[in-house]
Amino acid sequence: MPRSLQIYSSALHTRFRGLDRRDGVLIAGPAGWGEFSPFWDYSDGESAPWWRAAVEAADVGWPDPIRDRIPVNVTVPAVDGPRAHRIVTMSQGCMTAKVKVAEPGDSVTDEIARLEAVRDALGPAGRIRIDANGGWDVDTALTRLTLLDRAAGGLEYVEQPVPTVSGLAMVRRRQDVPVAADESIRRAADPLAVVRADAADIVVLKVQPLGGVRACLDLAAQVGVPVVVSSALESSVGIAAGVALAAALPELPYACGLATVQLFDQDVTDQPLVPTSGSLPVRRPAVHPHVPGWPLASDEVAERWRRRAARVADLVGAPQ
Ligand SMILES: [Mg+2]
Repeated sequence: MPRSLQIYSSALHTRFRGLDRRDGVLIAGPAGWGEFSPFWDYSDGESAPWWRAAVEAADVGWPDPIRDRIPVNVTVPAVDGPRAHRIVTMSQGCMTAKVKVAEPGDSVTDEIARLEAVRDALGPAGRIRIDANGGWDVDTALTRLTLLDRAAGGLEYVEQPVPTVSGLAMVRRRQDVPVAADESIRRAADPLAVVRADAADIVVLKVQPLGGVRACLDLAAQVGVPVVVSSALESSVGIAAGVALAAALPELPYACGLATVQLFDQDVTDQPLVPTSGSLPVRRPAVHPHVPGWPLASDEVAERWRRRAARVADLVGAPQ
């Protein structure tokens, strides 16, 4: 029998990853709700692990947690200094900030102002990491990292400074800021290539693109470096899967990138997974898709998602 799908669509407060809306599919199963929300630039083939993650959440559930709170970072998009300062100040006690850099149109002056503002807002005990989303080449990364490390008063790490695995290895060898791999893990045919090339100090894991909580736990066991769990900009249903992964990992040395529900205008639950005192609780939100105010997608968007989910489910081979 085909699954019943609930399609959500919410505006985002701040343009993020080039998006000002986020939409996706929720599926219900015996274990709870699962989210399938690959970005629209992902092919059906690339979206297959996202479907497997949703099916795991709905039908099987997740391994038992070993912790009940998950420390999270506040995310600072490519905004000006005063805005960056405000975002950190309003972040419900997050002591780690992840700051976007290397966006088109972003100058080094903009980035320095942003990082100085974030340090001012966090205070000396806070941690600052930056994410370049592969936007630099190796030479630019080396120059910028020196400047940005100074502006931030010390960087915890830089996420994906350059696009390629060999580039990551070079950046890692030639300067002291630790290097984290994100795109090189989640969009790679072979996520372990990064580790074999000695190209990362830290690996970012995202549940949907990597095929579920169990798949991520297996990968974490194989990579041999610390991991950080991050969201793929999901509703609270998708975030709950990231929280479950972070809660089940044997070690969790870094704050996770799971405090992104605040970027949504509307969530799919009245118990959103947003931080208090810098951390998220380990729980699954209840979803009541027929209540007034639920972020229902337009008929046209819903139809696109139904067709896409059917194609990807076919590809994965339903039922699981
Ligand atoms: Mg990233």
